[in-house]
Amino acid sequence: MNMYVPVHIKSPAGQLPPIDEVALRYLVARDGLYLERRTTLFHSSVRVEPPIPLPQHEEFCQLRCPKLPRMMLRQMLGFFDAAYRMHGGEAALVLLFHPERRCYRWCCPRQTIQMYKSMGKYRADDQVEFQSPLTLPEGYLHLGDAHSHHGAAVPSYIDRADENYQDGLHIIVGNIVSGRHTWHADFCIDGQRFTVPPELLIDELPRPPFLPPGQTWMQQIELKYRSSWGSSNGYGASNYGRPPKKLRGYWDEN
Ligand SMILES: [Zn+2]
Repeated sequence: MNMYVPVHIKSPAGQLPPIDEVALRYLVARDGLYLERRTTLFHSSVRVEPPIPLPQHEEFCQLRCPKLPRMMLRQMLGFFDAAYRMHGGEAALVLLFHPERRCYRWCCPRQTIQMYKSMGKYRADDQVEFQSPLTLPEGYLHLGDAHSHHGAAVPSYIDRADENYQDGLHIIVGNIVSGRHTWHADFCIDGQRFTVPPELLIDELPRPPFLPPGQTWMQQIELKYRSSWGSSNGYGASNYGRPPKKLRGYWDEN
């Protein structure tokens, strides 16, 4: 296949440039790649089915941001530990990045833990629901989030389903119960998930003592009490729903 075949993008607004009297060109449209031919005998446009006779190309994603500072890891672990001591469940933080200053910042979003009754005791459900803040400190961009897990630092089915629609970095700190924390990070972009090797983001996870969170962060945690696991998962409760959108979160306080 000729490497110099022109490629055009079909856009709703623009017309394609006229094709020469005898020519070959590709067109990228909603459902794929088309090969358009015009000869002295015919003019055609045919969708190209894979394998397309071109050199192989691989999907990739390379993070271009620096490692997370140790102080921020201590802040994150301090909050996750304090939240676990409060309700026995998960907690979440939103990660911001300032592209010009090349620095990070945590934002503590409003977050909801469903508490369900089991054997006479209230227990936290295995997920934390939160919304990313709609307003951010000046110059910062939303880069992703971090949340804790009781057990392994492995994205759950719910994590994967949520993150399919949230481009960015998704960090999980596992084994929050044992204190021997584990780490997992994925970067999701355009519907694809790339696992980020730990050494690209951290040197190592700090050990206790961590930085204790301030009251404003702890006050972002809302507990919703349900009478049973079923009601907490929408099978029995009529008032189950995603938490309401909150307009603000609390930035890191240190
Ligand atoms: Zn999770």
